[in-house]
Amino acid sequence: MDPTLVVLFYSSLAAGMAAVGVLPLLGRRKLPRHWIGWSNALAGGLMLGVAYALLVSARERVPLSGALGALLGILFVNRTHAASGTSELDLNRLDETSPDYGYKVLLVNAVHSAAEGVAIGAAMAVNLSFGVFTALAIAVHNVPEGTVLAAILTSRSVRLRDAAGLAVATNVSQVLLAIVTFALIAAAPGLMPWALGFAVGSLIYLVLAELLPECYREAGSTSIALVTLVAMGMVALLVSLGPGG
Ligand SMILES: [Zn+2]
Repeated sequence: MDPTLVVLFYSSLAAGMAAVGVLPLLGRRKLPRHWIGWSNALAGGLMLGVAYALLVSARERVPLSGALGALLGILFVNRTHAASGTSELDLNRLDETSPDYGYKVLLVNAVHSAAEGVAIGAAMAVNLSFGVFTALAIAVHNVPEGTVLAAILTSRSVRLRDAAGLAVATNVSQVLLAIVTFALIAAAPGLMPWALGFAVGSLIYLVLAELLPECYREAGSTSIALVTLVAMGMVALLVSLGPGG
């Protein structure tokens, strides 16, 4: 298969997995709050695992460019949050009914997914098997993130089917950025450490600033720390056994 089609196929598969995230909402009106915390912790742990894998594959590639790329990744998330007024947005307000909140949650999810698209594209450029591994890890993580988004949307009277569609739609940025990043690195291989650094910086920042803070309020620090660490450890273990960069 053409490498760009591989990127398209696996990033689309990852994006589509968000729809699976609505399943825990079948037959229930509201998700227990600690489930939301655990879902975000699971997603965050998988993201940290992916960041670790990218960091390992970046370690021998121009450290300064990688570090500057990471700084850019952090700035990207921080500035897009600030510009859209979503810096302190909690992704757990099931009782919040203002239309503004709904749009902001969708926007935050789209920006979040874009950073993960860079991670997929950069990993694919390292080598395709590592890229497929990364895309599959992001695919699994899109399920609990889809659950959190669907919980927020259905609490605002969005139908479950539409919530599934919106969860996938916010991941379109993931597919686009995966392809653009892959194509850019193919055209200019010098961008590789920048892209890897950007992905690592933005993923870790998203976990620390967006996902984890509210988790602790929902489910308690011990269970959140354990879920996060086990998820991260699984990815780190798998990457050390399998397709390293
Ligand atoms: Zn994520």
